[in-house]
Amino acid sequence: MGQLEEIAFVEEPHLDRSALDELLDRLGTKCGRYFLNRTAVRRKIPFFHAAIYGFEARVTTFMPGETACFRCLFHGGPPPSGAFPVVGAAPGVAASIQAMEVIKYFTDCGTLLKDRLLIFDGEAGGFREFKLLRDPDCPDCGSLYPTG
Ligand SMILES: [Zn+2]
Repeated sequence: MGQLEEIAFVEEPHLDRSALDELLDRLGTKCGRYFLNRTAVRRKIPFFHAAIYGFEARVTTFMPGETACFRCLFHGGPPPSGAFPVVGAAPGVAASIQAMEVIKYFTDCGTLLKDRLLIFDGEAGGFREFKLLRDPDCPDCGSLYPTG
């Protein structure tokens, strides 16, 4: 059992990980997100990702075997050290969009942010969207779900 798994059990002792159907990212560390991503990829369950930095909120939905995963985008490197700036409203924006993704998934309505990263720039007051691509050499999903 790895350190992150132990932390998950300590924080959520009642959690039966064998019964997970989807994962919501509410973590603030890259290491924690790697752990959630590996769990989602291995179980082939949706991973609803949200992140914030300063005025910015970022949201996407990873569907293992179908879309890029978190590690396709972030291969590693040291996590940022120290505190990072957050404008108080940014987490609300990220959480609202993330909740909308979960609702759309469970109600089978609308279009999920699959292979799309939606970024809200609160400083400029607008949204941008980026197309995400799977990395065939991704350490988490590359061998489990080969491309092409
Ligand atoms: Zn991947």
